[in-house]
Amino acid sequence: AAEATPRRLSPRAAASPTQGDARWGDTSSYGAKKKHRVFCQLLNGDWALCTVLTTSGDESVLKVSEGKVLRLKTESLQPANPEILDGVDDLMQLSYLSEPSVLYNLQYRYSQDMIYTKAGPVLVAVNPFKKVSLYGNEYIDAYRNKSMDSPHVYAIADAALREMKRDEVNQSIIISGESGAGKTETAKIAMQYLASLGGGSGIEYEILQTNPILEAFGNAKTLRNDNSSRFSRVVQCAVGERSYHIFYQLCAGAPASLRERLNLKKVDEYKYLKQSCCYSIAGVDDAQMFRTVTEAMNIVHISKEDQENVFAMVSAVLWLGDVSFTVIDNENHVEIVVDEASKTVAELLGCSIEDLNLALSKRHMKVNNENIVQKLTLAQATDTRDALAKSVYASLFEWLVEQINKSLSVGKRRTGRSISILDIYGFESFDKNSFEQFCINYANERLQQHFNRHLFKLEQEEYVEDGIDWAKVEFEDNQDCLNLFEKKPLGLLSLLDEESTFPNATDLTFANKLKQHLNLNSCFRGERGKSFTVRHYAGEVAYDTSGFLEKNRDLLHMDSIRLLAKCEISLPNMFASKMLAQSDNSMSVPYRSSAADSQKLSVAMKFKGQLFQLMQRLESTTPHFIRCIKPNNLQLPAIYEQGLVLQQLKCCGVLEVVRISRSGYPTRMTHQKFARRYGFLLLEDVASQDPLSVSVAILHQFNILPEMYQVGYTKLFFRTGQIGKLEDTRNRTL
Ligand code: ADP
Ligand code: MG
Repeated sequence: AAEATPRRLSPRAAASPTQGDARWGDTSSYGAKKKHRVFCQLLNGDWALCTVLTTSGDESVLKVSEGKVLRLKTESLQPANPEILDGVDDLMQLSYLSEPSVLYNLQYRYSQDMIYTKAGPVLVAVNPFKKVSLYGNEYIDAYRNKSMDSPHVYAIADAALREMKRDEVNQSIIISGESGAGKTETAKIAMQYLASLGGGSGIEYEILQTNPILEAFGNAKTLRNDNSSRFSRVVQCAVGERSYHIFYQLCAGAPASLRERLNLKKVDEYKYLKQSCCYSIAGVDDAQMFRTVTEAMNIVHISKEDQENVFAMVSAVLWLGDVSFTVIDNENHVEIVVDEASKTVAELLGCSIEDLNLALSKRHMKVNNENIVQKLTLAQATDTRDALAKSVYASLFEWLVEQINKSLSVGKRRTGRSISILDIYGFESFDKNSFEQFCINYANERLQQHFNRHLFKLEQEEYVEDGIDWAKVEFEDNQDCLNLFEKKPLGLLSLLDEESTFPNATDLTFANKLKQHLNLNSCFRGERGKSFTVRHYAGEVAYDTSGFLEKNRDLLHMDSIRLLAKCEISLPNMFASKMLAQSDNSMSVPYRSSAADSQKLSVAMKFKGQLFQLMQRLESTTPHFIRCIKPNNLQLPAIYEQGLVLQQLKCCGVLEVVRISRSGYPTRMTHQKFARRYGFLLLEDVASQDPLSVSVAILHQFNILPEMYQVGYTKLFFRTGQIGKLEDTRNRTL
């Protein structure tokens, strides 16, 4: 789908007719000549490298593999790069940058455990789903003293460190990709490198020790990844998946005394955990992990007392799921049942049963300046309970992150500079896309703009540095799509918030409102019923508005916050003040819930606020990009599904980088290297001449058209396809 919209980055140069194929560079010199390597598309859609045996008319006979011969229309073939370019470690070195060439090159490397490849300034990492011997001190040293330069996360981390020191600018390493693509592992590998260079302060060890804590509280087993970084998973969980690791670790690993104080049960006795029928992960010992997590907490200086408080909150969340209600009148109003569950929750939070009951079964509102109390129905009370569980857990996670940052900030004071590592979900497009995808894709749209702008800047800088004539480039990016989301009052987010405040609004009225106001927007298309389509940078995504309004309304009510504020235990108390502060600090138009007496932010507005904070931070750093690719959905090694890889390359903008580059002069070679490699082909004797003169002589002898190259101060810059011709001649001559 991304192909259909190559409209984001269009340098004027791209219009030049000399560039041949509209999308993939110069193919004009290409003809299916005998013995040429080409790609042909097999029935399953995969591209296979093959050799032309004969051509006659508009057909070619191809050798696909030993003993397998195909006859195909010549025009359906795609040129392949010369053998010398097989497995190059930067896709930019490819003479032909077609989709099959890129896929082949990544696959070629992957099959030899070279999982890292550069795409210009971007590092592509293909998940090996097995141990590869590319890590550890030996490798770290090799990258540090530059005895190794093949693409690697270490090389990226090293560059970040060097540039931080050289330019005195904060750095960021932005890691993106689908779930299970390897983002978190990659982040850990980068941290491992940075930590190893810490200089013996002990901080390096601490950085690595934060991982088990963040993973225990922030990760869960999903169908796509046994260790997926997740949010809001506390109250709902699909079959075969698990909630956050810490729930299982605590129940399995807590020593007897703690188990008693927190009144822990077995995992399969909690409602929140029972719904997915999945309690363990193959090869993972939860009890052992619990000890690892508490050990990690010791290392980052979380006191024993605080640790116990943390686990008390975890237990309270689990028990909240078991709090039940009894109907007290014929309007379906409820009160909580006073039983082990509600008593345990009250005890763990440090409040009375009465306060808990009040918070979960009634709602205080101010209407026309009058205080009124509304009784909740069973459904409302259940939602309120779940919202409380979620927010306690979310606050707990935030608190932990804060503690870890405090503990690590000792290191930051030393230099005043930082390297941030961002491990962020990538663009998502499923058969059915809901509010979650809507938010994720919006965030990715922002990140993509940041990515584009940065790459474009780099590209231009290199031309300028080498003195190349490079007409100022028109820069068209995804601003239109961002406007569709952010414009006030007629953008997706504003309209969603407006509709969320109407008590009688439904997902259908929301969808209709979007169609009414946005149908003229080129990035928007209304669909039948409750759906709409957004034209994202990575392709079109159809969203189903079912549940949008519900998910956008923040269900946590003031009554719950008040309950936490009243608690006699420090953590819930702190959580409450945080929540109050957040709802006061509204960065955007506050969202007024008809049912609450305070101004609250909608989920989408909070998301936007956090996204803007993130972008602001990123903008002040020098970014380094890593794109993680999942070669199969089975979490298995040695399986490379071309279609899946291709779709991800498009989504994470790698093909876009290639395209930007194609529109300029992607192949670069120093005068020296060029002269050495092709000088012997010259008919006249040039032995005594300097590399630049030799290079120019080669260009003339081979009739390379002036518009196909530029001579820079140190390098020659070529349009795509040019080096391929020279290589062919070289190979024939050798
Ligand atoms: P994400 O964070 O993108 O959802 P993860 O980083 O959790 O994905 O990776 C999913 C799984 O893939 C890991 O648990 C691990 O088994 C495997 N994996 C990822 N990267 C590597 C790597 N560099 N080497 C070995 N295995 C890896
Ligand atoms: Mg992850």
